[in-house]
Amino acid sequence: MLLADIGANLTHASFREDLDDVLSRARHAGVGTIVVTGTSVEDSRHAADLAAARGLYATAGVHPHHARDCDQRTVPALREIASHPKVVAIGECGLDYNRNYSPHSDQEKWFVAQLELAAELGKPLFLHSRDAHPRFAEILRNLRVGKAVAHCFTGEGEELRAYLDLGLYIGITGWICDERRGAHLMQLVREIPQDRLLLETDSPYLTPRDLRPQPKARRNEPAHLPHILRAVARARGEAPEALAEATTRNAKAFFGIA
Ligand SMILES: [Zn+2]
Repeated sequence: MLLADIGANLTHASFREDLDDVLSRARHAGVGTIVVTGTSVEDSRHAADLAAARGLYATAGVHPHHARDCDQRTVPALREIASHPKVVAIGECGLDYNRNYSPHSDQEKWFVAQLELAAELGKPLFLHSRDAHPRFAEILRNLRVGKAVAHCFTGEGEELRAYLDLGLYIGITGWICDERRGAHLMQLVREIPQDRLLLETDSPYLTPRDLRPQPKARRNEPAHLPHILRAVARARGEAPEALAEATTRNAKAFFGIA
């Protein structure tokens, strides 16, 4: 059973000491493909280097939290990082109206700039949206966005249907394993066509709440992806093996990797 973790923040400081062990546990757990998330220009460079050195893949983009730090050098820098063969998508980019670390006007401006960059380069998009529906969908619709994944989907049915209508892939994390805030996803994941579903850990964040024992310092890592797979398979009434095969096939087709 081979799985693809389409979103892992392996540049995070919490992985600095033991990345070898983390990657070896991922391999043993059957996670054969990992896409390292880039969240700023600096971080995307780091993600691309990590991908090259470790046989992984990476994205290049600026998270909405960091939109306020963007300037005229941002897009040229991302364009250059994205030319690296291991960089398979633009992002993570999008809107975050939950934390609001950057003003909405900055978030929108640099979200649109990255959508345009992805179109120019013909790369898929790794999108972040938190409490930003329906504005997020409206921007995507206006710009006729191409291949894109709504990573870490945690929204409600109306939002999910809007994304599916836009042709988006949907990334599901361990949020679904949280019986308090993720319960609605157990129902909603049934509505995602099998060929649009992707799995991710969002490591080191979003450790599945029902994982026993809970990992040290509650750090999430790609080796926990099979746990998420089983939760999604249970919710959809599918065999984990079949869902593993389908989501891995989707991930490879989406990112254009072998
Ligand atoms: Zn995100």
